[in-house]
Amino acid sequence: MPELPEVHALAADLSSRLAGRAVERLDMTSFTALKTFDPPASAVGRSVIDVVVRHGKYLDFAMATPGGGQLHLVVHLARAGWVRWRRNAPERARPGKGPLAARLVLENGSGVDFTEAGTKKSLALWLVGDPMEISQVAGLGPDPLREDFTAEQLAGILQKAGRAQIKGVLRSQSTIAGIGNAYSDEVLHAAGLSPYQPAEKTDAVQLLDAIRSTLHGAIARSAGSAAADLKAEKKAGLRIHGRAGEECPVCATVIREVIFADRSTQYCPTCQTGGKVLADRALSRLLK
Ligand SMILES: [Zn+2]
Repeated sequence: MPELPEVHALAADLSSRLAGRAVERLDMTSFTALKTFDPPASAVGRSVIDVVVRHGKYLDFAMATPGGGQLHLVVHLARAGWVRWRRNAPERARPGKGPLAARLVLENGSGVDFTEAGTKKSLALWLVGDPMEISQVAGLGPDPLREDFTAEQLAGILQKAGRAQIKGVLRSQSTIAGIGNAYSDEVLHAAGLSPYQPAEKTDAVQLLDAIRSTLHGAIARSAGSAAADLKAEKKAGLRIHGRAGEECPVCATVIREVIFADRSTQYCPTCQTGGKVLADRALSRLLK
């Protein structure tokens, strides 16, 4: 799933291609992907794209309508969704069983395809006058890369989370926006923290430092990459996540993995847990 750094790079890449361009139409090929019905998809016609930005992991195509109003096409790519810019968008997209969920077509003939692999469809689009009308966007926690987000604010979040494990706190979009399963592993490794560490016992200054260095590093690697290259870029840049059985790049200990909630988490026992191998809690409950 694309997380903050990839969505950040996607927004920058799409904005450089689309800002100032007039929209011709929005073709919906998946009937379930569009979560709003008013205004209808046809409302995008003749609107001009101002900018493409992100809110957490949500992409926002901000447009000005011919009538002087604002329109936002907001997209959540979910686990297997992706965006592809096309210099020449094909003829009208038709509903079908393929990965194409929607296509935004511009008056200059270029377009943006929103696709989703697999059979479980959770890619979502909203067409709204204000992104805050979308409860998931309105409910996002602070963006960790905003300069006005301070260690004091993070300390408050950690105290409020109490005994909750830090891995889950980092992943919760309503607590801090943009960090998912992959970058929470990277942040915890950079900070030298166990995924099971209680939030309230975590040093906010050290954690914010790890969050920012990890996300800025990933953004720097992604900067200038076209959408098509970002997935490979993300995978290559991850030091811990998805690398169980490989050596830790810091200390060469073998990276371990444990199931956290419904997803697998990777960590280095030497760097993060004082040498302790974490027990899979769901499994140990079953074995009792
Ligand atoms: Zn290590």
